Amino acid sequence: MAVMPGEVAARFMTPWSRQGQQPGPVFVGGAGVHLHTADGARCLDLSSGLMCANLGHGHPMVIEAIRRQTESLCFVSPTLRSDIREAFSERLCARAPWRGGARVHFTTGGGEANDDAVKIARLVTGRLKVLSAYRSYHGTSAGAAALTGGSRRWASEQAAPGGIARFFAPHPYRSPFHTDDRAEEVRRALAHLERVIEQENPANIAAILIEPVLGSDGLVAYEEGYLAGVRELARRCGALLIHDEVMCGFGRVGEMFASRRVGVAPDMLSFAKGVTGACMPLGGVLMREEIAEAFDHRLFPFGHTYSGHPVCMAAGLGALRAYETEGLFTRGREIEGWLRQGLDEIRERSAIVGDVRGIGAFFGIELVRDRKTREPLVAWQGADQRLMDDFQSDLLARGVWLYVKYNLCVVAPPLTISQADLARGLAIVSEALQALEARVSA
Ligand code: PLP
Repeated sequence: MAVMPGEVAARFMTPWSRQGQQPGPVFVGGAGVHLHTADGARCLDLSSGLMCANLGHGHPMVIEAIRRQTESLCFVSPTLRSDIREAFSERLCARAPWRGGARVHFTTGGGEANDDAVKIARLVTGRLKVLSAYRSYHGTSAGAAALTGGSRRWASEQAAPGGIARFFAPHPYRSPFHTDDRAEEVRRALAHLERVIEQENPANIAAILIEPVLGSDGLVAYEEGYLAGVRELARRCGALLIHDEVMCGFGRVGEMFASRRVGVAPDMLSFAKGVTGACMPLGGVLMREEIAEAFDHRLFPFGHTYSGHPVCMAAGLGALRAYETEGLFTRGREIEGWLRQGLDEIRERSAIVGDVRGIGAFFGIELVRDRKTREPLVAWQGADQRLMDDFQSDLLARGVWLYVKYNLCVVAPPLTISQADLARGLAIVSEALQALEARVSA
């Protein structure tokens, strides 16, 4: 349903949405794994908002840390020293997924972090080119959109900066390499990347940027050997490896950093979302000490008004305390078992579920018209999302929030979820999928 001509759904532009869409429920609060409306209706958040509220809503340790900070100091110039910034950076860098030290550059979000990581790589290497995967999302600022491989790049492309080349990464369910053999897929993907590097001039490649677990542009946990192969190819041509952990970091895949779960150490990693449990906007670039040292005697020519904002730093510290005291960085491994079982059952029940896949508390349900041909239920990168918009609205009406992009549903619950709440949520998803199936086969 659409709003009538002349009516306005809201006075703000809703991101990534047709503005004339029927408005959904108005949320006024959130606690734990639920959001709620003014009249008390509860909605189970199965996607942690936008895969960011990893601690659930309103975690008391984060809220208390924010409250205390607002009472002492809300803002100090990012060029001046601040006790809370120093405390948080110290703790964050001590946990970097590599040996030899780290430093951090703070931003307000993930797109900015990718933008800045690439600029840092270019300055440090003196090279121009960056390679990124076709299936990827790295943000929507001009720089980050240009790095994005998927169709969310297209509308921002007019002014997109150059120096970016793309490659195909493995995708066993929709193999760009024409094979059903997962090990062969990895071999061919690495051979392809090697050829891209050759063609782009290895001596001019500053960085390879990749999500170590592909998020909203396809949800793919790469097969063993692929990321290690990318690491080796980057090393061989003298390029830096940047992991975009904006979505897959902070416990999402069962470790604080996804790089640890996949066993490959990058040179820099971008983060955002879960770093504060989504209680405050914060992003950043964690970099190896030697990269940071390159700026010890020359200008570090990047920064934002809110780089290292004291209240965001406090939220980060509070979140770190919550993740660690409640064992939430690794809880995704337990949730992985529940999700695997629950989603396999959904696949058995519903013919429009083509594939379920994922790692940790980060799974995708890929919807198809036909399991044999694997034709997507709505076109991948397609303009007409109405069917999926309606599915998402139906789920909201049933009391579940689920992130949907094209024919992919991302199931990424808060890491605090109980097995019972997850089972209840998946039962609702299953019912909504059956209703969707009835609609498309009618
Ligand atoms: N990188 C990845 C992998 C993301 O998933 C996102 C956002 O969803 C971004 C970057 C952009 O982050 P932000 O929206 O905070 O700019």
